Amino acid sequence: MVADVDDAEAAQQLTRQLARAVGEKTAKALASLGVRSIDDLLRHYPRRYLHRGKYTRLADLIPGEHATVMAEVADIDSRPARNRRLHIVTVTITDGSTHLPLTFFARNAGMATHLRRQLPVGASAMFSGQVSLYRGELQLTHPEYEPLDDSADESLVQAHVNRPVPVYPATAKLPSWKIAKAVRMVLDPMNEADTAEWLPAEIVENRRFPSAGAALRMIHRPTVDEEWKQAQRRYRYEEAFILQTALARRRADVAAYDATPRPARADGLVDALDAQLPFELTSGQQAVAEEISTDLAGAEPMQRLLQGEVGSGKTVVALRAMLQVIDAGGQAALLAPTEVLAQQHQRSITAMLGPLGEAGMLGGAANGTRVALLTGSMGATARRQALADAASGAAGIVIGTHALLSQHVQFADLGLTVVDEQHRFGVEQRDALRSKGRTMPHQLFLTATPIPRSVAMTFFGDVDVSTLRQIPEGRPGVETFAVPADKPRWLTRTWEKVAEDVARGGRAYVVAPRISSSTPEDDDAPAPVTELRATDAVAGGDLANVEDTFATLSRDPSLAGVSLGMMHGRLSAEEKDRAMADFAAGRTPVLVTTTVIEVGVDVPEATVMVILDADRFGISQLHQLRGRVGRGATPGTCLLVSAAQPGTPAWQRLQALVETTDGFVLAEKDLEQRREGDVLGAAQSGRGNSLTMLRVLRDRDLIEQARDDARTLIANDPNLVGHPEVLLAVTRLVDPDHEEYLDRA
Ligand code: ADP
Ligand code: MG
Repeated sequence: MVADVDDAEAAQQLTRQLARAVGEKTAKALASLGVRSIDDLLRHYPRRYLHRGKYTRLADLIPGEHATVMAEVADIDSRPARNRRLHIVTVTITDGSTHLPLTFFARNAGMATHLRRQLPVGASAMFSGQVSLYRGELQLTHPEYEPLDDSADESLVQAHVNRPVPVYPATAKLPSWKIAKAVRMVLDPMNEADTAEWLPAEIVENRRFPSAGAALRMIHRPTVDEEWKQAQRRYRYEEAFILQTALARRRADVAAYDATPRPARADGLVDALDAQLPFELTSGQQAVAEEISTDLAGAEPMQRLLQGEVGSGKTVVALRAMLQVIDAGGQAALLAPTEVLAQQHQRSITAMLGPLGEAGMLGGAANGTRVALLTGSMGATARRQALADAASGAAGIVIGTHALLSQHVQFADLGLTVVDEQHRFGVEQRDALRSKGRTMPHQLFLTATPIPRSVAMTFFGDVDVSTLRQIPEGRPGVETFAVPADKPRWLTRTWEKVAEDVARGGRAYVVAPRISSSTPEDDDAPAPVTELRATDAVAGGDLANVEDTFATLSRDPSLAGVSLGMMHGRLSAEEKDRAMADFAAGRTPVLVTTTVIEVGVDVPEATVMVILDADRFGISQLHQLRGRVGRGATPGTCLLVSAAQPGTPAWQRLQALVETTDGFVLAEKDLEQRREGDVLGAAQSGRGNSLTMLRVLRDRDLIEQARDDARTLIANDPNLVGHPEVLLAVTRLVDPDHEEYLDRA
């Protein structure tokens, strides 16, 4: 507690220091940007740079955003407002092609005249304000402006005509140029040497970075573009370096433990499984299985991520790994994020094993093992049996949800943990599972969301990555179409298509983003794609929800005689099971559902998926969703219903899905479309650093350098005793909240 008080005290002192430097009022306004100290302010880096005479493309402005633009005054017009003593001044600005109206309210004619004088037609100025859509037209409301020609901001005046003008993340109260001024007030009295260099000197030298002090000037007050570019390179590297150092330490921590080697054994369960599988492993599966088998035989704990398209056959690869461990005397645990998935794994694994999974039962193989299932909703008897089988070692494979993590769950000798859809779990959860081993278990993470190499490197650091690119032969695949929501005929056609497929014995998923009209967001869905919020609000339509869609479709003539089921996260586990079972069996061949069915659900008869308000979902999520259909003998159809207008980012996302089914191409597209903040996760915003400079695609090389440097550093100084500043930066990053994002991003 004492420490907390001291911390708060220290923080207040820093804020007072800032207020002394830049003034109370500015300091207050800065606080709303998360800037509470001089240090924060210096780390509030410009988002971009403008140049005189090079106007901002106004057509690119995004409604809902706060924007800073440089443009020319094309027209100015004032008139008295109707019922008030106000004058409305409309300034129209242009970038040479697009015109954008700005509305000012002047309290009197004098103020209107003042505006006219400051913003004469033909003058260029910076404008800043909230971008909104009014009757389909972009506009800036409550704009602030800064004339460029007789500016109070000296970085803008004639002497530095070519000097890049920094644009800071700003607010309505505190436009970019006022932040620039505050930064100058802090930066001007400082010497370059006042800024401590915290990166190891060899790195600064080898990588040719500007020193910490030089970089500050270059980013905030560049005289030429080259300067801010060099500074940015350093700051991006810093970010990557801290992250990579954290990852290198974690990897080193785990590697310091010994795992029990679990070498492959001839004539064991792995061979028996291979002999009875109804298919041949693809060459991709074989290669990955080989990598895993080698890892398992070693004394260093395996930490491997297996990524592969939906339907690429990861389960059988994981099963072979589990069997290898059982053959070597150990047990394996499979952790799944939902009950539905855990049960499905149990069903498919039990089916693949056949008699091999029925040891001790009538007809079971003598050399076989047993599969136990542990979920939160199980009855007491079944649960007791599962716990006993895990603890005695009778169950070689224990499959479960979070219930597996409970301290009551014990293993005789846990040799391998498999985490399905790893991104759904936090680090503590994975650690909780692996701590159940007598020695450090080998770990295998599965993900169906393909991760570009650069991202894998950023977020998984030294975790080894295996990739299944191939889908087993003969999979018919999915064809995807966009359905404009405002074309009733297309919608009717959509439901007719559903009815046709059902009549042929198929099944259809109808996915909606919300559970009911009264829920603000679908509890089952991950955070919505934020950049779309503003546009959605403008579009005004309520988002499709499961309950209303269920009711509407029940009455839809196209679906007369077709039974519908309903599925979402608010149902009890039993209700969910029943809904899935009824759907699988065809009793309710149409399932209206939220994204709970997103991961791993396998109903081979499913041929159609209709996704309502599809633009609400991200690319990867849509790709996952459509992977639920076309898994059997018949090709699948995915219909993306959306009101998104052609050309908008939302529309482009859907188009990407229409054009390709390659998950890796889509993952890169997804990444390109996201903003910096999204890529590194929301946790970043808590660091008082409003800009995350690192972009995993663009900065691939820098990330690779940072990784190499971090590895070298940790190899030489594992506990960073010789590098206290690096240790501090890493600790700040890897506090409990932040460690989460290392893995969940
Ligand atoms: P995912 O990678 O999405 O978890 P699954 O492991 O569920 O995919 O596999 C999807 C389906 O493909 C399963 O029905 C599985 O039995 C089947 N399968 C796996 N490997 C092969 C293969 N080599 N040839 C044919 N079918 C396969
Ligand atoms: Mg799977």
